[in-house]
Amino acid sequence: MVAEAPEAVAFSLELNDEQKQFQQWVHGFAEDVMRPAASEWDEREETPWPVLEEAAKIGIYAPGFLAHAGADPTGLTMAVAIEEMFWGDAGIGMAIMGTGLAIAAIAGNGTPEQTAEWLPQCYGEPGNLKMGAFCVSEPDAGSDVAALKTRAVYDEAGDEWVLNGQKTWISNGGIAAVHVVVAVVDPDLGARGHASFVVPPDTSGLTQGTKFKKHGIRASHTAEVFLDDVRIPGKCLLGGREKLDARLAKAREGSSTGVQAAMRTFEATRPAVGAMALGVARAAYEYALDYAKERHQFGQPIIENQAISFTLADMKTEIDAARLLVWRAAWMARTRKPFLNAEGSMSKLKASEVAVWATERAIQILGGMGYVRETPVERWARDAKIFTIFEGTSEIQRLVVARAISGMHLT
Ligand SMILES: Cc1cc2nc3c(=O)[nH]c(=O)nc-3n(C[C@H](O)[C@H](O)[C@H](O)COP(=O)(O)OP(=O)(O)OC[C@H]3O[C@@H](n4cnc5c(N)ncnc54)[C@H](O)[C@@H]3O)c2cc1C
Repeated sequence: MVAEAPEAVAFSLELNDEQKQFQQWVHGFAEDVMRPAASEWDEREETPWPVLEEAAKIGIYAPGFLAHAGADPTGLTMAVAIEEMFWGDAGIGMAIMGTGLAIAAIAGNGTPEQTAEWLPQCYGEPGNLKMGAFCVSEPDAGSDVAALKTRAVYDEAGDEWVLNGQKTWISNGGIAAVHVVVAVVDPDLGARGHASFVVPPDTSGLTQGTKFKKHGIRASHTAEVFLDDVRIPGKCLLGGREKLDARLAKAREGSSTGVQAAMRTFEATRPAVGAMALGVARAAYEYALDYAKERHQFGQPIIENQAISFTLADMKTEIDAARLLVWRAAWMARTRKPFLNAEGSMSKLKASEVAVWATERAIQILGGMGYVRETPVERWARDAKIFTIFEGTSEIQRLVVARAISGMHLT
């Protein structure tokens, strides 16, 4: 006997009307503005300011966008919106979301006053747009974040922090108005001796080094950032002095500090990267599906060959599986469920690996047309690769998951 469906259920995987509306709104921008511009900005390898202006005019490149998406109590709106944006284009998507990294760092570590002061300055306004950048990575500290060397020293006399060091791989580095810099305040404490600082616009001593020529997401600016006696007011320490001193005192005593909370925050941003990867994977899958139905060889559409149809079936299955992990992690992060099994890392790991695999499969389904720039598939394959590298490589995600499930400090 089949039980009747209950009237009200506590669990649902269906988006509500508000989530669907937001999804469609971002999808419209992705389809009408981002897609048509994607190839040009990929070739130019420049920040797509005119596209950002369009995004700013309708509120996609604005503080309210992340605030609205982030306010959804289920956590899904953010994941859904980011997937649509990156379905449009990952390079332009990163030009938009690079600022989001700085926003996440300010909102996650700053006081309400600091958040209110710096968030609008990260975006500027239509006609006078600005950017934010989040500067963690260094030449000798990529995966090994504890190895940071950039130093922040407090100068009591002027109530200033003085920053010195070199950052690398920074999205929007050097062209941003606001740089959030993670630096060492107590070298004896390793990762527990780090703090985050806002470097305000036009601060002297902060300069851009090499701008990298990249494999993918080429509309997004990635560069070295040099910090040479950068003096910033004491109030630019995110979270404030009192909180930092308390945290350092605890760390010196050897007791548990906020660092675990910081790691949890980092975990919480990973579903967003998973959602980016999903957008690219889905774009490639949809394109390959349409192509396989239209392209004829041996007198029939190529999808009539099981080798092709099964590949498409696997692509759809893998993408949907990845999305479920991303949604679960986004929901857990928003509802503050502890990531006991590193579910944030799991979602990023799975979605990024699926994006690389699915875009490669899409090239194969298109044959020669997948290998040339007449179709967007080769660009999507180039773009997809970044998701297995930034915000923690796939190996580091596996390490985080392995440590979480084993309870051991595995290396
Ligand atoms: C386009 C782009 C944009 C970026 N944007 C930013 C940004 O805005 N801000 C920022 O701070 N950083 C940014 N990054 C940096 C990014 O987060 C790092 O590249 C990433 O964390 C990896 O560090 P790494 O490149 O130094 O690689 P490495 O750490 O040198 O790793 C090299 C290889 O060794 C592996 N490996 C390292 N340690 C282990 C281990 N313990 N076990 C197993 N394998 C291991 C890695 O998985 C990888 O395969 C960006 C990078 C790129 C390419």
